[in-house]
Amino acid sequence: MRALRYWFDSNLQDQQNYADGAGIDWLRIIPFIGLHLGCFAVIWVGTSTVAVAIAIALYLLRMFAITAFYHRYFAHKAFKTSRPVQFLFALIGASATQRGPLWWAAHHRQHHRHADQKLDPHSPQQGFLWSHMGWFLSRKHFKADLSLVPELARYPELRWLDRYDIALPVLLAVLLYLTGEGLAVWSPDLNTSGWQLVIWGYFISTVVLIHATLLINSLAHRIGRRRYQTPDDSRNNFLLALLTLGEGWHNNHHYHAASARQGFYWWEIDISYYLLWLMQKLGLIWDVRTVSKQKRDARQISRESVQ
Ligand SMILES: [Zn+2]
Ligand SMILES: [Zn+2]
Repeated sequence: MRALRYWFDSNLQDQQNYADGAGIDWLRIIPFIGLHLGCFAVIWVGTSTVAVAIAIALYLLRMFAITAFYHRYFAHKAFKTSRPVQFLFALIGASATQRGPLWWAAHHRQHHRHADQKLDPHSPQQGFLWSHMGWFLSRKHFKADLSLVPELARYPELRWLDRYDIALPVLLAVLLYLTGEGLAVWSPDLNTSGWQLVIWGYFISTVVLIHATLLINSLAHRIGRRRYQTPDDSRNNFLLALLTLGEGWHNNHHYHAASARQGFYWWEIDISYYLLWLMQKLGLIWDVRTVSKQKRDARQISRESVQ
């Protein structure tokens, strides 16, 4: 633990905001370390097809809740929906163990307001490791500034999710355990168990999900192409877009953040948007904002000047 602390702190020491409450809050991140260590329990619980399938399904479902709802809906108001649908996806998003929707949206709005400037919570200009995970493990960013999300903070159910952000991850783990134990009794041929589903469906799925999401803060401001001359370092990155169901078109996004569609062209795969389009057809969401052709085609920078 001391070696880990030294490694982390030494990565932070040259940061301007280190002295400003940016130090790592070890008491609060012990669960985060435990989440990673828990994955190693796969050695004991083993693997089965059903466990891996559930891990992948929960990755995709929760990634959609994070990209389409935490990000495009809560943080950017890119479409409208009913209060029950808003709450349902806030619940699924909260099970992704990335804190509550108010905390997430407040920090993200701050990111857009000050992208790659001093007040950006997670710019890679303050260190790659900081932009990836140091920022949310610091004391400075533990609390959300609710003045940044006033229209969301008036919903008591969302404030509750923020206050008890551990509730949904625990509930998901319990449901997985009960499902696994049930399957072990009723379908022993599946070769699974309660703990096996907890390790695959919660621990492994969640760790991959968290780091894939965090790569948008770190890598998508470092590696990829810039189509638009935005005042930040955001990039478009095809691989990140696949991994995150569309969030990799991050330069497009910083150029026109209000759009629910982040892949601006047909070849820019944006699975979250395709699903939102479907939800709109089903009447579950409405007033979906996209980018106009005029805005999309304006102010593009030539490939030669990108480097
Ligand atoms: Zn960004
Ligand atoms: Zn955004």
